[in-house]
Amino acid sequence: MASLPNGHTAKKLDIVVVGGGLVGSLEALYLAKRGHRVRLYEYREDIRETPQARGRSINLALSIRGRRALKDVGLEQHMIENHGIPMVGRMIHKLDGTTYAIPYDARTNQCIYSVGRNYLNGMLLKESENYENVERYFNHKLIEANLKKGSLTFTKTDTKEEVKVNADLVIGADGAFSAVRKAMMKQPLFDYSQKYIEHGYLELCIPSNANGGFQMPANYLHIWPRGTFMMIALPNQDCSWTVTLFMPFTNFKKLDSKEKLLQFFEKYFPDSIPLIGKKKLIEDFFSGSPSPLVSVKCRPYNVDDKALIIGDAAHAVVPFYGQGMNAGFEDCTLLDQLMQKYKDDLPRVLEEFSDTRWKDTYAISDLAMYNYVEMRDLVTRPSYRIRKAFDDL
Ligand code: FAD
Repeated sequence: MASLPNGHTAKKLDIVVVGGGLVGSLEALYLAKRGHRVRLYEYREDIRETPQARGRSINLALSIRGRRALKDVGLEQHMIENHGIPMVGRMIHKLDGTTYAIPYDARTNQCIYSVGRNYLNGMLLKESENYENVERYFNHKLIEANLKKGSLTFTKTDTKEEVKVNADLVIGADGAFSAVRKAMMKQPLFDYSQKYIEHGYLELCIPSNANGGFQMPANYLHIWPRGTFMMIALPNQDCSWTVTLFMPFTNFKKLDSKEKLLQFFEKYFPDSIPLIGKKKLIEDFFSGSPSPLVSVKCRPYNVDDKALIIGDAAHAVVPFYGQGMNAGFEDCTLLDQLMQKYKDDLPRVLEEFSDTRWKDTYAISDLAMYNYVEMRDLVTRPSYRIRKAFDDL
């Protein structure tokens, strides 16, 4: 078992984390490092043993918030050096097929990294196996929670058996449609709002070239901004690209035949057709359906000293600012800092987290909404080219 840092509690807490996605599996590591008993319950099978599910972004942009958290649990270097693909700026694809780059930070060369969701999640789960104080339970769906008592009921998805569990602390990291949050909503003074935007997303793929290399310059987040809709592409380790088309659902509906789809791509994304390939474009487009995008704001994040929600469960955001996972990872960092500060005294830790964190997550949520307009439209406006011209001086 890894050594414990100074300042950990004398009392070992019994903590249940609901949700073994990106944020829950990271949180389990932070808590394990503090020496607590951690039981991680995940609805789905072990992600390391299942093929990539379509409809959940295949890759993500990891930024400084996320890197910081990975560093705390000893995984940043591995992630960046062995798996992350640096993206130093945006590469804009114009209608005529020409491109130009807008660096994120030409002065100090800061960048974001494209990372695989499954790889990152699997790495976090694998790391948790190095801690004897972490237990992992897959195929367990939370169906009922009495958060004031810290008692939970799960159903095993394979045998349908009910499993009852008690904990000193319940941490809900069970995503945008969180069952823990649903239980919190019964508490008086719990504020909640959600918004579905009118746009959905569908993932396509640009395969590697005949030599197994990248078909486009690899170290950029590629964007095809088209005013009311856009397409983006992030690089993968195998030199393919995950391409995401964001568009109003009404537009998706209109593309109901191969001919209409090809006409649409020839008009708006002509340079992408030879990259994706006509056959693959048709196959991938019609084998999936666009997924919705929801934004959730709520508070407080805790119920007394017994329960807390983090990650998308507390603040699902639209993906245009690339900060959903990063902000969720930052939740784990901040929670750990408070546990350190208050020596794991849960009433103080949870109250301060809840009182302070929401302001930043509400701001990230608003920025994410704004950034869709920026990425699909404003990025092409002259002011950016003017700024780029100054950067180049
Ligand atoms: P999730 O990843 O949703 O994990 C929740 C887990 O809880 C799941 O494993 C689920 O199976 C489990 N669960 C759910 N219900 C139950 C239950 N009842 N019982 C037990 N377990 C349960 N973020 C970035 O930072 N950068 C990006 O570039 C980025 N790109 C994105 C692109 C798209 C298209 C989308 C949709 C999102 C993107 N995000 C990005 C956001 C990011 O995916 C989320 O913020 C992140 O996945 C949140 O992690 P989480 O662990 O909180 O939730």
